[in-house]
Amino acid sequence: MIKKVGSTEIREYHRASCHCGAVEFEVYLPNGLVSPRRCNCSFCRRRGAIAASAALQDIRILKGEEMLRLYQFNTMTARHYFCSVCGIYTHHQRRSNPDEYGFNVACLEGVNPFELGEVETVDGIHHPADSNSE
Ligand SMILES: [Zn+2]
Repeated sequence: MIKKVGSTEIREYHRASCHCGAVEFEVYLPNGLVSPRRCNCSFCRRRGAIAASAALQDIRILKGEEMLRLYQFNTMTARHYFCSVCGIYTHHQRRSNPDEYGFNVACLEGVNPFELGEVETVDGIHHPADSNSE
């Protein structure tokens, strides 16, 4: 877990937003950033964001819930949310663990994802839930 990114402390309740500010949310991060990672699946490799984990009840949309759009593909299990105004990915309900959200680390207030250093890449191409996610 990561408690500090560059000079930014990860707060217990950390504010986050999309690029245009239409969507604001809060992530409960008592353990800091948990397993920030990239994924190489057909969707994530285009999106390019680093996602960290939070339990479903630990993300609270403070503003602009109605501005969020949902994108689903393939098995239609994962739920990928993005701002309908600026297009920025905010969070998604995982396919590998539907009790968990992944969220866009770059949306966290004051957090520069380039200061995370080396980030693990998850092998989403070879997902256990299907044989061809391409
Ligand atoms: Zn936006």
